[in-house]
Amino acid sequence: MASTPVSVHKSEEEWRAILTPEQFHILREKGTEPKGTGHYDKFYEEGIYNCAGCGTPLYKSTTKFNSGCGWPAFFEGLPGTINRSPDPDGRRTEITCVACGGHLGHVFKGEGHLVPTDERHCVNSVSIKFVPAPASTPAPQCGSCSCSARKGN
Ligand SMILES: [Zn+2]
Repeated sequence: MASTPVSVHKSEEEWRAILTPEQFHILREKGTEPKGTGHYDKFYEEGIYNCAGCGTPLYKSTTKFNSGCGWPAFFEGLPGTINRSPDPDGRRTEITCVACGGHLGHVFKGEGHLVPTDERHCVNSVSIKFVPAPASTPAPQCGSCSCSARKGN
């Protein structure tokens, strides 16, 4: 399984050292950022969202959608990267990063969003870090033109 994320185990102290207080609160203490304030709530660039704790790629921008809920929403995580476990209150399902156990948010099913999985991963912006897709290199344009590549001859 080449795609299995490497497990990351750190003590609370180590996490405090590398995370901001806000990241620590949400990732390690299962906090929730205030609705509608997240950096990625209305963010639709092309790329990958990594775990803010350990850097494991978790979501593709192509699975992000506008749920209107006030947090970033994805209909699918990358295979094998996200753990699900029932909340103690029995009503919600928590999602965490498989590699480091960082709290991402919750997953909701059957809300009727027009997405392939009918699921909404409601993720804290603080828990993820966007990495832009590599810019596609434009094909060389100067085969027979008289562009600057030929000047100074
Ligand atoms: Zn992680």
